[in-house]
Amino acid sequence: MFHIAKEEEILEGKTTDVYFERALKILKEKKINPYVVAEITTKSLPKNWEFGIFAGLEEAINLLKNLSVDVWAIEEGEIFYPEEPVLIVEGNYQDFIIYETALLGFLCQASGIATVSSRFKRKAKDKTLISFGARRMHPSISPMIERNAYIGGCDGVATIKSASLLGETPMGTMPHSLILIFNSTVLALSAFDEVIEESVPRIALIDTFQDEKFEALYVAEFLKEKLAGVRLDTPPSRRGNLKKIIEEVRWELNLKGYKNIKIFVSGGLKEEDIDDLYPLVDGFGVGTSISNAPVIDFALDLVEIEGTPISKKGKKSGKKDILLCKKCGGREVVLFKEEEKVCSCGGKKEKLLKKILSKGEILIDLPSPKEIREKVLNKILI
Ligand SMILES: [Zn+2]
Repeated sequence: MFHIAKEEEILEGKTTDVYFERALKILKEKKINPYVVAEITTKSLPKNWEFGIFAGLEEAINLLKNLSVDVWAIEEGEIFYPEEPVLIVEGNYQDFIIYETALLGFLCQASGIATVSSRFKRKAKDKTLISFGARRMHPSISPMIERNAYIGGCDGVATIKSASLLGETPMGTMPHSLILIFNSTVLALSAFDEVIEESVPRIALIDTFQDEKFEALYVAEFLKEKLAGVRLDTPPSRRGNLKKIIEEVRWELNLKGYKNIKIFVSGGLKEEDIDDLYPLVDGFGVGTSISNAPVIDFALDLVEIEGTPISKKGKKSGKKDILLCKKCGGREVVLFKEEEKVCSCGGKKEKLLKKILSKGEILIDLPSPKEIREKVLNKILI
């Protein structure tokens, strides 16, 4: 038995913090069930990030669609900043009080992963970026992790289940174990080439036994033009200067006429490594940095009760919206009832929150992960 909550348990509110269940018991006993507006915002972003990418909305909708509530949200893949309302739930409080824990969980982790992935893609630009970090996280949530890595900007994901949910082909090369068992990089590659279907690119892992430059030349001479690429997963203890090693591999491959053989790199990559290696590398496999992304600390707060603005200390009351000028990018948080207006630049300031659910009925067509990803790329790859 795995230590996970089943889908139906989440939908039944079993993953709630107990204090919500107790509060519900009190409200029921006292016959109090006010009509409230609850708003989700974050006060800050991790690590001085300039912005966040909003994600997890599809799961949030799947949670809330069973309830008698109205929901507004910014689109999945939209950029957001601290103190901006990303999602609003409106309804009788007893109807949704016990879903706060799950709702925040869906949004906080997904948005963190999508944001980190987008930060990597902004640096990797036209180079391939693959999510390799499923192995660092609980397998039951790897589809969620890889979906958000993908919509944030990763070009591909490694695990079979995640890729199938995304409608993509899983991406990967070969493990060190295969090379160790054949006791030879070339023999392992030869077996790979013999057994694995033609449609899978032949990418040789070249850091198992010998120097990367010589291994690169051995595998290139063995498979010639059939070899799509080489991958360096060199452990940090043996790296010295990874950039110099890659430069040397590229130089020698070019010299022998293998300019078309691509170079992929993986193994503990951090955001700052991408800037450094970008000119030399054709693709990056990023693991823990994306799958273990910091979460966004979204919180849910009541901002109106029975039509009256009210909120806790440190929080602005009233139902709100975000106005964004598509021309200059200027944005502001305004009261929900305010109209769209002309920006000081002459452009039009449009509202970002869209009504998603009406008494539990879904009002929008849910975009595919591919569509969300394209929207994110349009925003981050300027
Ligand atoms: Zn403007």
